[in-house]
Amino acid sequence: MGVTLEIRDLHAGVEGDDSPILQGVDLIVRQGEIHALMGPNGSGKSTLANVLMGNPAYEVTAGEVLLDGEDVLDMEPDERSRAGLFLAFQYPVAIPGVTLGNFLRHAINARMKADDPESKGIPIPRFARMMRQKMSQLHIDHAFAGRYLNEGFSGGEKKRAEVLQMAVLEPRIAVLDETDSGLDIDALRIVADGVNSLTGPDMGALVITHYQRMLDYIKPDRVHVMFAGRIVQSGGPELALTLEEKGYEWIREEHAALARTESL
Ligand code: ADP
Ligand code: MG
Repeated sequence: MGVTLEIRDLHAGVEGDDSPILQGVDLIVRQGEIHALMGPNGSGKSTLANVLMGNPAYEVTAGEVLLDGEDVLDMEPDERSRAGLFLAFQYPVAIPGVTLGNFLRHAINARMKADDPESKGIPIPRFARMMRQKMSQLHIDHAFAGRYLNEGFSGGEKKRAEVLQMAVLEPRIAVLDETDSGLDIDALRIVADGVNSLTGPDMGALVITHYQRMLDYIKPDRVHVMFAGRIVQSGGPELALTLEEKGYEWIREEHAALARTESL
């Protein structure tokens, strides 16, 4: 049985601010499934990603998030990561003198030590083998591991580093928030190829994107549309095609019509 990420009636906003952003999100993502979360700007997609990873700038006011039945909201961000959640596109800033390979080895060692204080970490030859295998799988030049972390990385190289980090940490559920600014087509493809090659029976993904074109590269099992802090529509891949044709305006109109009915 695969692991399930279950979001139940989640309400959240910015810490110290009364206006709600998430207003009852329900969503279930199983290991092995790719879900796309779409919606117009400002609908709350990134807020959901931030809440899932425990960003302290956000406050949960109601609802729950369970991973494999365990309360995620009670865990520190590093515990969430150890439990198998991964949020892409949260890479550390440039660290002078630390290569990407060393950074990833330390990340693995920190996780092993948290599980077992006696652990001496991953033996270097085993780590090197693992890196070679993952980089080949992702079609990443092996010299990339020797680059200093994020120092002079192009947009595409940052994405590549993030995808490699995801491959090495082997999450059970990965949440990828496609920040909307300046993502060129190459960077988009790197992310999409990474998701396609890493998702499988062992990994599920929640791919958050404003852009329909992301779905030219990733074939989701389910598509959800978020509007005003709720998932207002869910469907199969055909829903993405509807969005591509009609944009988001019809969602807005339907939502306004519904609000009128409710106020009667
Ligand atoms: P999306 O990712 O769908 O574009 P966001 O979750 O980024 O939407 O934002 C949803 C709403 O919450 C927006 O109105 C945004 O301005 C507000 N918001 C999100 N994060 C913050 C924050 N840290 N401080 C203030 N307002 C925020
Ligand atoms: Mg966003």
